[in-house]
Amino acid sequence: MPANHLPTVLIVDHSLSNRDLIGDCLRQLTDIQVVGAGDGAQALHCFRELRPSLILLDLALDDIDGISLARELRQIERGAEEDGIVAWTPIVFLSRIQDEDALARGILAGGDDFLYTPVSEVVLLAKVRAMLRIAGMQREIHDAHRQLSSIARLDSLTNIPNRRHFDETLAAEWKRCRRADAPLSIVLGDIDFFKQFNDIYGHPAGDSCLTAIAGSLHEALFRVEDMVARYGGEEFAAILPGTDNEGARAVAERMRRAARELCIPHAQGVGGLVSCSFGVASINPDSASLPQQLLQTADAGLYLAKRAGRNQIGLAGI
Ligand code: GH3
Ligand code: MG
Ligand code: MG
Repeated sequence: MPANHLPTVLIVDHSLSNRDLIGDCLRQLTDIQVVGAGDGAQALHCFRELRPSLILLDLALDDIDGISLARELRQIERGAEEDGIVAWTPIVFLSRIQDEDALARGILAGGDDFLYTPVSEVVLLAKVRAMLRIAGMQREIHDAHRQLSSIARLDSLTNIPNRRHFDETLAAEWKRCRRADAPLSIVLGDIDFFKQFNDIYGHPAGDSCLTAIAGSLHEALFRVEDMVARYGGEEFAAILPGTDNEGARAVAERMRRAARELCIPHAQGVGGLVSCSFGVASINPDSASLPQQLLQTADAGLYLAKRAGRNQIGLAGI
């Protein structure tokens, strides 16, 4: 494994000889790398750059006391919260004096353990191993959580975002576009005569058709901020942030053509092929409007497209 993938132990101590002493001891563990920092500023820099797996932190630094530094490190971790997960780096304080009050304050500030120096090699190595083991397990839990929450936002049949992901994204984009006074558009799509498709070709063929259509609609979106989700059974919904009505109609037309160009035979479909109908709605979100209204307008447009013969785009005024 390359050195930069090994867990890093950061030793923060103003005394170079102490750092060397501890560092030399820890280097007996061949599956870690050891980095030293002589003061709080250096420690913060190393923390941000190296994301260590463990910090050994002397209580008495020159520019900041260890307890305040621990508090600051925990704040940085909280600020970098991702998807509801706060990263956690174990902090073990190093102290020359046995001070119960300092121990209690240190733990309250976010520390995890205390070591009184000078410390025997056996104790130091054992504590470091234990902390790294806990940190490693915690990282695995975080990775699993990340994977699960990404799976929970995907539709298992079509592999595109599901309704839940759509709802979350619409709420977030609504707020973002409102702040930026930018337009926001929605395209609702629905496969035409899909019940008949299932009746004629069977449910498994219907599933394959849904997956192919989902892929084609996804491919029809060019901007990274655009997304299309499976909205319901054979309905899809796209969110187009920063796109006005004219732009959204052009995107819907691209989606319509993309689905059509799959050329999936459908004996009772429009012109013998599977097709989709679409409804488009756009708004500049403000305090007087709600995402629900945008969806209703798109739905009304979709209804018009169906009534007008399907395989087309319908527009209803908001
Ligand atoms: P329209 O052109 O008016 O939209 O007619 P339609 O037949 O497409 O609409 P309808 O709402 O009558 O039927 C939708 C069909 O979509 C019925 C349902 O069985 C099918 N469907 C919904 N979800 C799935 C799915 O996951 N797999 C398959 N194979 N079919 C699905
Ligand atoms: Mg439908
Ligand atoms: Mg349909």
